[in-house]
Amino acid sequence: MRVPPLKNAPSCPAQLAQAIDRRSEIILIDELDAETVPLALAAGGAGARVVAQLDCVFSGASIARYLSDLGAGPDLLAGLAWAVTVQRLPTLCPHCRERAQLDPGRESELHRLYPDLPAAGAVFRAAGCPHCNGAGRLGDVVAFDFFLADATPPALFEQPSSLSLQEYVLRLALAGQVPQDDLARLEAGQLHRTYLLLIASERALYETNRQLARKLAELEAANRVLEQRTESLVSLQEIAETLISSTELHDLAQRITRHVVDVCCADRSILYVMRPDATAGVLAVSGWNPAFVGTRLDALQVFGGGGHAGPPPAAASAAAAARAAAAPFNGWPPGIPYRHPDVEGAELRAGLRMPLVSQNEIVGLMIVHSTRRARFTPGDRLVFYTDGLADTLGADGRPFGLERL
Ligand SMILES: [Zn+2]
Repeated sequence: MRVPPLKNAPSCPAQLAQAIDRRSEIILIDELDAETVPLALAAGGAGARVVAQLDCVFSGASIARYLSDLGAGPDLLAGLAWAVTVQRLPTLCPHCRERAQLDPGRESELHRLYPDLPAAGAVFRAAGCPHCNGAGRLGDVVAFDFFLADATPPALFEQPSSLSLQEYVLRLALAGQVPQDDLARLEAGQLHRTYLLLIASERALYETNRQLARKLAELEAANRVLEQRTESLVSLQEIAETLISSTELHDLAQRITRHVVDVCCADRSILYVMRPDATAGVLAVSGWNPAFVGTRLDALQVFGGGGHAGPPPAAASAAAAARAAAAPFNGWPPGIPYRHPDVEGAELRAGLRMPLVSQNEIVGLMIVHSTRRARFTPGDRLVFYTDGLADTLGADGRPFGLERL
């Protein structure tokens, strides 16, 4: 006999297809499943001898029906020849087993089912002894069911076995191998095995669902991050476009405060600008009451106060400006009166203070707040460093220039 090796066939179905293509005379399959059942039956129908194992709780014609449920139509079922069921049963302890009387009602029922059975057959039971540790069982024996398929559906599904599992167990009982109770337990045992199989498949289904749900959550989280990044990119792009195209300072400031809120994942921002007379003014707000726009403050109150020491405007040297960077800010923006969260309707949870630098001098300040996040992460920081503010044209068509900022 020649056993050709199968190459480059990673899966069982692929290997099986290869074996069928080669017109193999004998094909052994470790275990059948829904995918391989049609292939195996097709090979059998084509003349190959296919020997395969199928894990199930059925025997006899029920196996043909099970194969049909797995997708094998009448044409494929023509490839089915023998279905041999194997079931292991614990045997009676030979040391303590003894003859017992079969229940009369049970005996007449068994003779109705199996007319060939010898009349008044003996049955046994075992009470337990030291040899079997009191279990009454010692060792095991295999019971078979032999089914030869020689009909087509639907008759195939009703065809009796050549030797049924029930009859085999009955004969084992009469031979003193198994107790008569096992006859009664046979069906209950089948039900129990069915139950265990269902539980196992339910667990597998649950695990699969759990993995799917986890993957879905990961995908959704990744998608949210992607959306947020896209929004930030769009906002940054809009800021760049605003800086290039805006010709009106208030419009520019208004748009910047709005976009900064998006970029920083904040919900409030306020933009101060330095005035030549050592005062500071609120140029734009987002999330705050727009009535604060135009508020005039002492420059020190904005740029040097609040425990966040920074250089006053007149002393804003290039070196000091170079050191200026975004920093955490705890408190209310200068010029906006404190209000209790219950009155304000929100609580300022995280703040960030970002100096605006033009030509190495601090010319403004942006303060952003989040009422939802506990803190900003380093990646959220955004420092504006542009000369665009000074070059921007005012309503009168003249550039604002550094001195006017
Ligand atoms: Zn015993």
